[in-house]
Amino acid sequence: MQTFSKSFTQQEPLPEAAIEAAVAIMRSGRLHRYNLAEGERGEAALLEQEFADSLGVAYCLACASGGYAMQIALRASGLAPGDKVLCNAFTLSPVPGSIHGAGGVPVLVDIQDDTTVDLDDLRRAAEESGARFFLLSHMRGHIGDMEAIVELCDELGILLIEDCAHTMGATWRGRPSGSFGQVGCFSTQTYKHLNSGEGGLLTTDDPEVMRRAVILSGSYMLFDRHLAAPEAESFGDVRLQTPNCSGRMDNLRAAVLRPQLAQLDDRRERWNRLYRVLEEGLGRQAPVTLIPRPPEEGFVGSSIQFRLPGLSRERIAAFVAGCERRGIPLKWYGREEPEDYTSRYDSWRYLDGMRPVPNTEKVLATLCDLRIPLTFDAQDCAEIVQLVGEALQESE
Ligand SMILES: *Cc1c(COP(=O)(O)O)cnc(C)c1O
Repeated sequence: MQTFSKSFTQQEPLPEAAIEAAVAIMRSGRLHRYNLAEGERGEAALLEQEFADSLGVAYCLACASGGYAMQIALRASGLAPGDKVLCNAFTLSPVPGSIHGAGGVPVLVDIQDDTTVDLDDLRRAAEESGARFFLLSHMRGHIGDMEAIVELCDELGILLIEDCAHTMGATWRGRPSGSFGQVGCFSTQTYKHLNSGEGGLLTTDDPEVMRRAVILSGSYMLFDRHLAAPEAESFGDVRLQTPNCSGRMDNLRAAVLRPQLAQLDDRRERWNRLYRVLEEGLGRQAPVTLIPRPPEEGFVGSSIQFRLPGLSRERIAAFVAGCERRGIPLKWYGREEPEDYTSRYDSWRYLDGMRPVPNTEKVLATLCDLRIPLTFDAQDCAEIVQLVGEALQESE
C-alpha cells in the first residue's frame, strides 16, 4: 500500500532573521520585556506596535498564550465571577477553559452546517441566559457573517470578543479578523500562523480595556514601556485597582515573532495554494461535502475541513482507519473520546447544565479535519487527495 511519509505536525524552521534576533537577545541577557537598556524600546513592545498596525487597531498586548489573552480579555472587559459567557459549541478546549479560568460560566451556542455560529440560536441563548459577553471562535478559520454578528451583539447589548487563533492574517470584506469585536485574541503557539512555541496577542481600540489588560498581564508600574498602549499618565486608579495575574511575553519570543509577522501575507498565499489543491481534489470525491468559502472571507487555509453527511459512523470509522494506515492522521470530530488536539463540547464535563446544541452534534458527527503544514508542497497535497480517495473507496 502506498503511504504518505511526511509529518502533519512538522512546521518550517524559523526564518534566519528570527534566529539572529533570538541570538542577539540571548547575548544581551535582557530577556524580560521590561529589562531595557537606555533608549531601547524592546522586542515585546515593538512586536505589539507592529501587530496593532497590521490590524489597524490602536492597542496590542503580547502575553503568555492565546488562552491567557482570552482570560484577561474577559476580565478587562468587566466580567464578574459567575457571569455567563456565550461561546460557539464548535471550538477548542482553551475557550471554555479561559471562561472558566476568568470565573465565568460558558453558555454554548449552536452552529450552522458551515460550522459558523447560528445567529438564531445566539439570540435564543442570549435571551435565555442573560449573558452580556460572547467569546466567538473563528473555528478552523471559518468566519461567520461578521456584519450580522456585530449587529446582533449590538442589538442585544452583548460585548463581542473574537478568538482569532485560526484567523491571524485573515479578513472579512477586507477588514482584518480580530478588529470587529471589542477585543481580538490571537495565539502564537507552534501550530498556529506564527510560531514562538507559546504566546498570545490581545488587541483592542478601547483604552480602558487596554489599561486593565496591561496591568492584569503583570506590568507592575512599568506600563510606560509599552508602545501600543494608552499614555502612562492615563493609568490613574486602574494601576491600583487591577490585580497582577502574571502572564507577560518575553523579549525572546517577541524577537522570533517579528520577522515572522513580516512574512504573514506570504504565508497566507502559500497556505491557500495548498488549500486549493486539497479543496479541488477532495471536492471531487462523491461523499465529501466541503465547507463553502464565501467571497467576503479572506481566509488562511492552514487546515481543511469536510463533512461526510451520507455516511454511517461505521463507514467513517473505517475510512479514518484507512487514512491512518496510509500515513494520513485525519481528525474526526465524531469520535466518542477526545483525541490529540480535538475535543468536543461534550468532553468538557466540568461544565454543567449545558444547553442542547443539536446541529453541532449533527455536524460534528461527520466532520473531518486535516492540518496543512507549510512543509508540504502541492505535490504532497495531490498525493494526500489520492490516498484519501483510496481510503474512501476501501471503506465502501
Ligand atoms: C490554540 C487555540 C487557542 C488557544 O491558544 P493557546 O496559545 O494554545 O492558549 C484558542 N482557541 C482556539 C480555537 C485554538 O485553536
